[in-house]
Amino acid sequence: MLIRFWGTRGSIPVALTGAGVRQKIKQALLCANGRHFANDEAVERFIDEELDFPTRHSYGGNSACVDLVGVSEYMVCDMGSGLRSLGQQIMREHGPGTPQVYNFFMSHVHWDHLMGFPFFPPAYIPGNTIRIHGCHALSVMQEAFHRQQSDPCFPVDWQNLGADIALIHLEPGQWYEVNGFRVQAKLQPHHGDSYGYRFEKDGKAVVYSTDAEHKLESEEATDAMVDFYREADLVIFDAKYRCKIKFVSSSREGKQ
Ligand SMILES: [Zn+2]
Repeated sequence: MLIRFWGTRGSIPVALTGAGVRQKIKQALLCANGRHFANDEAVERFIDEELDFPTRHSYGGNSACVDLVGVSEYMVCDMGSGLRSLGQQIMREHGPGTPQVYNFFMSHVHWDHLMGFPFFPPAYIPGNTIRIHGCHALSVMQEAFHRQQSDPCFPVDWQNLGADIALIHLEPGQWYEVNGFRVQAKLQPHHGDSYGYRFEKDGKAVVYSTDAEHKLESEEATDAMVDFYREADLVIFDAKYRCKIKFVSSSREGKQ
């Protein structure tokens, strides 16, 4: 299972600033230290092999969007501004002529988690199927998506999107089969509630758990959260909120 991070920032997307670019150039020049490069290839090799990751890359610019790769239908967590980049990649891979099925899993409908959808090209293309799964009331999800794509905020109304789009309500705590994955959602403390998702396939487990404010006020709630993460191969979690889950070695074989 391959996971791609198209957006990881919370609240609002940010762009690399001029000061940030200057810092990277300075760091690269210091690292090169007067060296002569014979050709383009030597420059590329220097960048790949000798510059550290923060100097040769950037990260964290777009808001939340993560996809699980390697299955017939798309599996995407959240629709932050990173969804625009995923949509562009899909257009490069498939073009507009090959219908695809997209399964989205919404943590919640705060704007930073759905603002990418109006800029997701497959939503405009007839023949595509888009299923938006979420645990909030369908009326809440519907209102959030409709408000985002309606006058005077956006020029294309939700009703004018070309794809076949369905909102699907999931019950937290129940297991569902979606595109060969077992999927279970979990309620997480957050303003207006958010939901984490646990995906299992071929003996591997990934938990997508964003905007989860664990407060440690209840041992029962903490244990339930630990159970949700238990033995996952990968947990995708925010750095914004303090997580004070107790990783206590217990009768549960200590695998927490
Ligand atoms: Zn939020």
